[in-house]
Amino acid sequence: MTTLREALQQAHRAGRALGHFNASDLVALRAIAEASRELGSPVLVGASEGEREFIGVRQVAALVASVRDEFGQPIFLNADHTHSLEKAEEAARAGFDEVLFDGSRLPFEENVGQTRRAVEAIRAIDPGIVVEGEIGWIGASSEVHESAPEGLERTMTTPEEARQFVEATGVDVLAPSVGNMHGLLQSMVRGESEKHLDIDRIRRIQQATHVFMTLHGASGTNARDLADAIRAGMTIVHINTELRLAWRRALESALARDPSGVTPYKILVGPLQAVKEVVRSRLQLFHGSAGSSG
Ligand SMILES: [Zn+2]
Repeated sequence: MTTLREALQQAHRAGRALGHFNASDLVALRAIAEASRELGSPVLVGASEGEREFIGVRQVAALVASVRDEFGQPIFLNADHTHSLEKAEEAARAGFDEVLFDGSRLPFEENVGQTRRAVEAIRAIDPGIVVEGEIGWIGASSEVHESAPEGLERTMTTPEEARQFVEATGVDVLAPSVGNMHGLLQSMVRGESEKHLDIDRIRRIQQATHVFMTLHGASGTNARDLADAIRAGMTIVHINTELRLAWRRALESALARDPSGVTPYKILVGPLQAVKEVVRSRLQLFHGSAGSSG
């Protein structure tokens, strides 16, 4: 069975990206697994601290492992945005393939120190686990916001600080700030605006670090920018808010269609299909980017 590290190497060489989609319940998990299986695309399931708390750390690991075992499918699990060493070690022991230790809210030196300690602790549990670190501010939550969080422009990652961070911490994967942002703005939900990325910055950070890179907060990003970012070196792309929005809209219309319905597995078919459709269209974009022009 392919490991996450091998899947990342294959994607990077081919100029493609692995889609990373968050799950906090069986609806999202099934949607992600089915879309990935139908397209034959490797995929990362993300579970943040909050999502892990809801579904259960060992439970989400067992669910992903059972899909991988039953279908022989390259489906991997990431402990998304982990803020403490304790939670990082808990996920590593539960069998996660990747841990994102997120010290991006700390001053740079403190982030370096804590991330380096997390890398050592996780490797001591299992050297095969892929460890990601994060620098630069891209906002906190995958929700729909009225306005962009303060300071996004000011905290874009420079190639030099990226190089220092990677050298000092030994992370396998870097999450930089390059114009991306967690969540969506109301104007993006209405289809009036899109996120744009600093492609040249991505290329220069890649040249300065030579590690895999993750694009966080990619929901609502201009499609051409996404394809260019992948070609410039982004090997993992995170989509969360788009799934949450699709889930909520489909749930509202399922309940409106059947106001007296009480059977969860009937009501939740709509949300499952809606989330699956978003995953499917994003996987097609991330995989097709190598061949497209511009
Ligand atoms: Zn993120």
